[in-house]
Amino acid sequence: MSAPVSAGAPLGTSTWPPLREELRGVEPYGAPQLDVPVQLNVNENPYPPSRKVVDDIAGAVTLAASTLNRYPDREFTELRTGLAAYLTKEAGAPITPDQVWAANGSNEVMLQILQAFGGPGRTAVSFAPTYSMYPEYARDAMTTWVAGRRHDDFSFDFDEARRLVDQHQPSVILLPSPNNPTGTALPHEVVSELCAIAPGVVVIDEAYAEFRRAGTPSALELLPDLRNLIVSRTMSKAFALAGARLGYLAAAPELCDALRVVRLPYHLSAVTQAVASAALRHADELLGKVDELRAERDRTVEWLEAEGFEVAPSDANFVLFGRFDDRAALWQQLLDRGVLIRVTGPEGWLRVSIGTAAEMTAFKDALRDALREVTT
Ligand SMILES: *Cc1c(COP(=O)(O)O)cnc(C)c1O
Repeated sequence: MSAPVSAGAPLGTSTWPPLREELRGVEPYGAPQLDVPVQLNVNENPYPPSRKVVDDIAGAVTLAASTLNRYPDREFTELRTGLAAYLTKEAGAPITPDQVWAANGSNEVMLQILQAFGGPGRTAVSFAPTYSMYPEYARDAMTTWVAGRRHDDFSFDFDEARRLVDQHQPSVILLPSPNNPTGTALPHEVVSELCAIAPGVVVIDEAYAEFRRAGTPSALELLPDLRNLIVSRTMSKAFALAGARLGYLAAAPELCDALRVVRLPYHLSAVTQAVASAALRHADELLGKVDELRAERDRTVEWLEAEGFEVAPSDANFVLFGRFDDRAALWQQLLDRGVLIRVTGPEGWLRVSIGTAAEMTAFKDALRDALREVTT
């Protein structure tokens, strides 16, 4: 498209559309959404809701629909109360509704955190390999992005963290636990020490926490003691509700209050609130497949190891495995066999989400078959 003839002040040469300088030529984020039989690429829960849950959600939506002429509850009171009750069980200590915040996916929660606590002249820090969306939130919130490194075995490197915190004084530290894409969880000592040395907030992104192995802690347990800790969660993964778009966090009330300043008014639609609240009433059933998925994850790790791959120990519903000279070629070979996984993480590694037992069998068969075509 060419520039309108009588546009306002010129923005420079070849500047239509008038995108921010740093956004020019940037591809929108997103894994390929391909219609293939076995989809193991975005860490979804493979089990759809039961008829009973579908009916209850539909009933809640019908009720919400009868008041759609009005704006929704800006403070999403009922939903916050439901989320607080759910987290209280997980945390082993009471979490109150004013310690809970929610938005359209934890992607939006995270952007709001960067908008409130980052911004021009400020820095956000993470440690690679880490979630590939973080640098995008930082960019969108005009926050300087710095990524340190983890150890080669993907465990947390505290010397590196101390050095980066000293040097950059980040107002936000973002760390997934279990980490995406490696599956590595953080011990309590790391979270506590980071919170002690951080000049700003420390966000522990527990998108996959419900899948953690027995004995792996949740940072929620530390909330009462750490005023700069934010623990984020989502209904997209274990909760089997990715399509509803509901992410949330727990933190001190003063941090939740700060996020109210940057959220758009009525950011959570009445329909979203109704769906999420109805789903929470069925938490036991929606989370009912988590144990099965954890067992399937452990079996997948064992199988990959027995086949001679390098495998990162995982507390999540995915497994990072390698290493391949040409991972893109292997990914394509799997796709040709109807199995979609993900090219992500350090060079040479691939990530597979845990699906049903039948899907994992298809993955294993396709992988064995594909490896005959690709030299690794
Ligand atoms: C999937 C994922 C999320 C969840 O995103 P939603 O917007 O809640 O769907 C958050 N953090 C990490 C690290 C993830 O992998």
